[in-house]
Amino acid sequence: MPTHHIIAIDGPAASGKSSVARALAQRLGFSYVNSGAMYRAVTWHVLQRGLNVHEPAAVATATEQSRIVCDLVDNQSRMLIDDHDPTPHLREDDVNRAVSLVSSVPRVREILVAHMRGYGKKENVVMEGRDIGSVVFPETPFKFYIDASPEVRVRRRLAEGQRDEIAARDRADSSRVASPLVIAPDAAVIDTSALTIDGVVDQIMQRLVAKGLPVHSQTATPGGQRMNPYYWLGYTLSRLLAQSFFRFRIMHRERMIQSGPLILAMNHQSFFDPPLAGNASNRAIFFLARKTLLDHWFWGWLLPKLNVIPVDQEGSDRSALKALIRILRAGEATLVFPEGARTLDGNLQPAQPGLGLVIAKTLAPVVPMRIFGAHEAWARGSKKIRLHPITIVVGHPIFFTQADIAERGKDVYQRLSERVMNEIAKLTIDGNG
Ligand code: C5P
Repeated sequence: MPTHHIIAIDGPAASGKSSVARALAQRLGFSYVNSGAMYRAVTWHVLQRGLNVHEPAAVATATEQSRIVCDLVDNQSRMLIDDHDPTPHLREDDVNRAVSLVSSVPRVREILVAHMRGYGKKENVVMEGRDIGSVVFPETPFKFYIDASPEVRVRRRLAEGQRDEIAARDRADSSRVASPLVIAPDAAVIDTSALTIDGVVDQIMQRLVAKGLPVHSQTATPGGQRMNPYYWLGYTLSRLLAQSFFRFRIMHRERMIQSGPLILAMNHQSFFDPPLAGNASNRAIFFLARKTLLDHWFWGWLLPKLNVIPVDQEGSDRSALKALIRILRAGEATLVFPEGARTLDGNLQPAQPGLGLVIAKTLAPVVPMRIFGAHEAWARGSKKIRLHPITIVVGHPIFFTQADIAERGKDVYQRLSERVMNEIAKLTIDGNG
């Protein structure tokens, strides 16, 4: 039984699983294990010894007699075979041609699978291969099958400058008797043909969070406030008015995470920002506001119904930070302005450390968002409202891991906030970034 978290990424050749698995491991702070490289290493060894790869008995004996040492270098798997590091040779044409044959020998699989399981005893790993979810770690709840259309896969290999008979390898890998390439019944299938690596990793992260991988606060319960009628009315009216008067639109709303603890982090331009940002989510999110705002009888009655939580002061005030942590631990979503206050000139401002502290305390994922045009529509300090178009662009979710918060302190919080602010800065009005 593995004692750590194992994320199985299986799929055919050139489906994008290596890039995805590597990027996913990096985001999670897990080690990355490429099991295909292990079969390639044995294949190279067998070829080096001048053996006939069509003779399973000879291949099995050679593997049994070799000294295989598996370790991790910079969080990536490496395999030494008889003290040689075959890494530079793994993609050579003759290895490409012979690997499916060598990997179909049951004894070879038995030996390498034992080494793969060894990784799972040492570390949290993202492991890619053909049978990781079906045979190597059938008990892991985190299984993904990455696929892409045959045309896309051939194009990807060609772009890498490799000669690789993908179709032949697919056929051999899927039809062999020992651990053929199959989709584990409980694996989530993701077609990467039309997705970027980041897009695939986002999808996987969302599923991992939904399946309970503790990439965020373990104390959080799945929240998901439903909208009360007041909230729904405010939500709908603000959107309709903004659409009519400010040609309001939200780009990449599909990137929003719709359940579990979440920080929506946006640059701050005007008083329009909170209701408009709220429209990027399907659920009722929480907003912080200065206590004094609720002193008025009407606002004091209405704002709590709109999920506005009173705090001494917005920004990095202690009561505000505490409120945010409470909201997130309850599994809810909340809006945070990492800059702390509205911009004076429309430009982005430096990040404040408060957001970083909240991330460190909760490990809640962050969806970066950037608002454009709200400053032109209603500048800070201005009494005039102009009918300028307003756009919100939603970015890819950012997931934090224990590795991000291994150290604590103001510098760490500041860096976490800056990471979010940098992602906000990358978003452009045409929806890129
Ligand atoms: O992933 P990659 O294309 O580098 O794998 C090379 C070959 O290793 C595959 O075509 C397959 O024959 C074999 N393999 C396997 N089981 C795994 C990983 C790879 O049989 N878990």
